[in-house]
Amino acid sequence: MKKNIHTNIDQIRNDFPILKRKVNGQNLIYFDNAATSQTPQIVIDSIADYYSKYNSNIHRGVHFLSQEATDAYEKSRVKFQKHFNADNSYEIIFTSGTTHSINIVANGFKKILKKNDEIIISQLEHHSNIVPWQMLCEETGAKIKVIPIDNNGELIIDKFENLLNSKTKLVFVNHVSNALGIVNPIKHIIKKAHEFNAIVLVDGAQATPHMKIDVVDLDVDFYVTSTHKICGPTGVGILYGKEKWLNKIPPFLGGGEMIDQVTFEKSTYAGLPNKFEAGTPNISGVIASGIGIDYLNSIGLEEIYKYENELLEYATKKLLLIKDLKIYGFSTKKTSVISFNVGNIHPYDIGSILDKFGIATRTGQLCAQPIMDYFKIPGTIRVSFSFYNTKEEIDEFIKALHKAILMLS
Ligand SMILES: *Cc1c(COP(=O)(O)O)cnc(C)c1O
Repeated sequence: MKKNIHTNIDQIRNDFPILKRKVNGQNLIYFDNAATSQTPQIVIDSIADYYSKYNSNIHRGVHFLSQEATDAYEKSRVKFQKHFNADNSYEIIFTSGTTHSINIVANGFKKILKKNDEIIISQLEHHSNIVPWQMLCEETGAKIKVIPIDNNGELIIDKFENLLNSKTKLVFVNHVSNALGIVNPIKHIIKKAHEFNAIVLVDGAQATPHMKIDVVDLDVDFYVTSTHKICGPTGVGILYGKEKWLNKIPPFLGGGEMIDQVTFEKSTYAGLPNKFEAGTPNISGVIASGIGIDYLNSIGLEEIYKYENELLEYATKKLLLIKDLKIYGFSTKKTSVISFNVGNIHPYDIGSILDKFGIATRTGQLCAQPIMDYFKIPGTIRVSFSFYNTKEEIDEFIKALHKAILMLS
């Protein structure tokens, strides 16, 4: 049974103990969901449960606790397989986060890319999706080409299609921009890239909290996200990869659990997924992340998208009434993220005053300096809503913003 968020909002908010916190003597208003989402009690309980009842290393022991922990860990993998509609559970690799997942893929192409091969990335990328490719290019002599954006912050798809050619080996693009909240037409991008036999990795860190992802329908080669943005704990990421690509790229980390045979001359790698999960993983985190995705699905991502879109429209309308306020990023398809500035006031100053009112926002470059350079601004104030936020909180935020502007102008 899916929940209607409007009629269940009190109960939903009750599931998140942190929402009862006071910050600077005020009720916390948490509008920094794009940086990390809050954690429901059942996820917190699951971590405590693991350490109080079956803390044990996985895949190694014959003993009872180790088997229980292994079962729970592998059950979580199947949950994510189903959630993303992957063909096989071993195509889901647990990592420490989106950054780690991207680095596994980038590292994997060191031996595959050749000099003058081309990698296409977009101007909208998060820093974690730029630096690994630069490192890869330094080592291989491959070149980066950038898909530009227009004044609305949307990718210019014609320009992307012009960049594609027989030298294009990889295309890396985020599904949703963390700075602007714009949903990119990735299905089209993937289709076009495949016409040139290029491999596509999509950074889904900002998409997975808001929409259901079907990796088979998208025909995406690699898809990555972090579970701390989808009600899970920090320190767990997902790397989905098509079996054929995961088999093709070498492991990133060497160590225990990722090998089949070890001699001093040579080791052979274990099969999927263990090949990419060297060492003791974040066992409790992976199990709790599975509980987090169950929680999200108990409400339903369609319902979440609809509700958050109402919050987005409501806040956008109110913000645009403020004199000299400029919103960056316009598109008919956006997630509940708003980046803005007011006149020449530095975003940090507004963010600091909002914090005095208990309102958590993000200010600065948002790990996306190329976007800020494009708009010629030092940064923005970003508010990002989740399904546990309310219109009343937006009203409080608008009031506080008016006060901040008064104080600073
Ligand atoms: C948050 C985020 C990342 C980085 O995720 P980590 O969990 O810090 O590794 C990468 N890309 C996008 C689009 C993000 O929003």
